[in-house]
Amino acid sequence: MENWIFNRSFDYPSNNQLQLIKGKILESSKVEINIEKYLKPILQIVYNFANNPWISQEEIIDQLNIDKSTLKILNEYIRENIYLQNLIIKGGSGYKYWQTISPFCSKINDAINNSFSYPMRIGIYPGVSCMYYCGFCGRNQDARYPSNIVEDGYKMFKSVLSELDPKNSAISLSGGLEPLTNPKLGDIVEFASEHGLKVPLITNGHSLTEKIILKNKGLVKLDSIRISLYGVDERSYEFITTLKNSYKTVKKNCINFLKFRNDVNPKIKFGINYIILKENINDLPKLTEFISEVNSAVNNGPGIDFLSLRDDFDTVTGISDKSDSKKKYHLGGLLNYEDRQKLMYIFNELERDSEIKKIHVDYGYALYAIKNGLAETTLKKITDKEMRKYAHTQMSVCVDLFGDVFLYREAGFLDRPGNKKFIIGRVNKNNSLKNIIENFLYNSNGLENASNDIRFMDPFDHVLSSLINQAENDKKFGIPFEYGPVKLRVDPKNISLGNSWYKDV
Ligand code: SF4
Repeated sequence: MENWIFNRSFDYPSNNQLQLIKGKILESSKVEINIEKYLKPILQIVYNFANNPWISQEEIIDQLNIDKSTLKILNEYIRENIYLQNLIIKGGSGYKYWQTISPFCSKINDAINNSFSYPMRIGIYPGVSCMYYCGFCGRNQDARYPSNIVEDGYKMFKSVLSELDPKNSAISLSGGLEPLTNPKLGDIVEFASEHGLKVPLITNGHSLTEKIILKNKGLVKLDSIRISLYGVDERSYEFITTLKNSYKTVKKNCINFLKFRNDVNPKIKFGINYIILKENINDLPKLTEFISEVNSAVNNGPGIDFLSLRDDFDTVTGISDKSDSKKKYHLGGLLNYEDRQKLMYIFNELERDSEIKKIHVDYGYALYAIKNGLAETTLKKITDKEMRKYAHTQMSVCVDLFGDVFLYREAGFLDRPGNKKFIIGRVNKNNSLKNIIENFLYNSNGLENASNDIRFMDPFDHVLSSLINQAENDKKFGIPFEYGPVKLRVDPKNISLGNSWYKDV
């Protein structure tokens, strides 16, 4: 990591450092340019994109005070220079965003033109209910699906999965509600896997008991499983879930599943996800105890493979959603600057722990910057006004147990107040996923967004909409992505559609 680029502001490198940088640029240079004249604006452009992948060409021009044709020349030079491309994509605080952005750039034109193509990622939400009452969760705590629709739901999911080409679409099984409350979950996993899809499962792990695993033999076909861990001991777990003994239950289930995994399919990657809240920052160091205790209880092979850390993104926390819910309790608010500074020290300690060194740690979009010393960075979010009339169906939708197709991931909670407008149709015998999306794109007026509608978007939704908005603005401005400074936006390489929990892509 070069410190001039991973920095809170652009500081022109010192003379010695500048000579080194210039040497590296020239080594990978494929296009002629007057480097003495343009070195500074080139570095400024690279710095900007490395730290803010959403910056527009118009903003760059304002900042650098250059004309459009000069910017196009500089963009081409940067685009064809491998050293500068690596700095943009891997060198700044936007690293985790660039990892997500890369594959979706192939759908930008369809998204701008509102043309149909199958979503690249589909959230499958098979959960019937949930036993927890997490304070940051957008679910309607009184709602559950009728149990007698599970069989029909299974048939519906099979028809959705059959429509997908595994080369062009990826899925995840998550919620919505808790996936393991669906007795056909194993069958869904098996069907998806046999269709050629990698199947990741996100679960709270409460029902991952030996009995449920035995009944859901298809779980053996999972690609990965991520347990949402809500605490580090009984007290903290009960605080979030409101359920007594939930810590003990989940811990035992993790150990049992890992033993099962090692026996039947060691390729399944197993990890935990921990959401960092104001209320639990100080608990974070104890995560290592959990990992260590689980791993030492697994006596037939490896233990936990990965840990993902996320900050709460305010779909419910804070004041924004209190009016439309009767939640059991409310959380205090989002992390502030002091909290994020504290996190920097905690992450440093965490990284030194021998147990953590053995596993892959994924810090996600904003925590990656904090882990590397920038406490200023927060999650990228669009505003209600910037929400797209036709969302981003070419890139992502989710489908629940009724077959309802939701435009955004945080909308996919049964009877969440305000979410109905984000349902674009129901998959059934007469209506395929394709029909529903086409009908929405070609025969509807799209959405009129209202105040606070962004609470239905998760961080991934924000990234996708930001990307399309940026591409559209750059195109209108006269410097579309083809003439921009980032190669992977026009020529995506090594496309990995799935999640990046357990490895960097
Ligand atoms: S976050 Fe997950 S486990 Fe918690 S209440 Fe919501 S659906 Fe249930």
